[in-house]
Amino acid sequence: MKKYKYFADVEQYAFFTKTPCQFCGNESNCLEGIYFDRENIESVCMSCFEKMKACVEVPSYIRRRVNIDSATKIEQLKYTPPIPWVQYNDWQVCCDDFMTYIGEYDQDAFSNKYGVEGTVELFESMLSKDTHVKVDDINVLWEDIGYNTVAYFFMCSHCGKTLIVCQSY
Ligand SMILES: [Zn+2]
Ligand SMILES: [Zn+2]
Repeated sequence: MKKYKYFADVEQYAFFTKTPCQFCGNESNCLEGIYFDRENIESVCMSCFEKMKACVEVPSYIRRRVNIDSATKIEQLKYTPPIPWVQYNDWQVCCDDFMTYIGEYDQDAFSNKYGVEGTVELFESMLSKDTHVKVDDINVLWEDIGYNTVAYFFMCSHCGKTLIVCQSY
């Protein structure tokens, strides 16, 4: 599978469907069309996606998050597999570029990667601004990760910063 600048581990964190690819009939590694933000896509295999037979719609509020050389960056994001969002596209930006999506982490995955000291505080410090303002009780949010809440992790390929977006079902 091709390497994507904005999506680190497609095999593990993209959402694949059993519906055969609508372009070639391939049944393996088919991206679920519901995450494409457009109506006419049901299933696209990775091979057809790499051949640019379909692209992901990038909403205008996401496009506006980058400024310098934005057309190139947006074009690249359009041909990056979609994140399986629970609510809406909230692709993060840092250093005027789209961040690399590194996956959905639950509590164990978080602790394995970042250590167990002061875990909840560290988790809170990594939340995106929009997620952070919606938090009533950080402990409740933390306990809900992997259950009703999905935590999407992003890393900046320029400065290494991590940001987390949380969305609940
Ligand atoms: Zn295909
Ligand atoms: Zn950065």
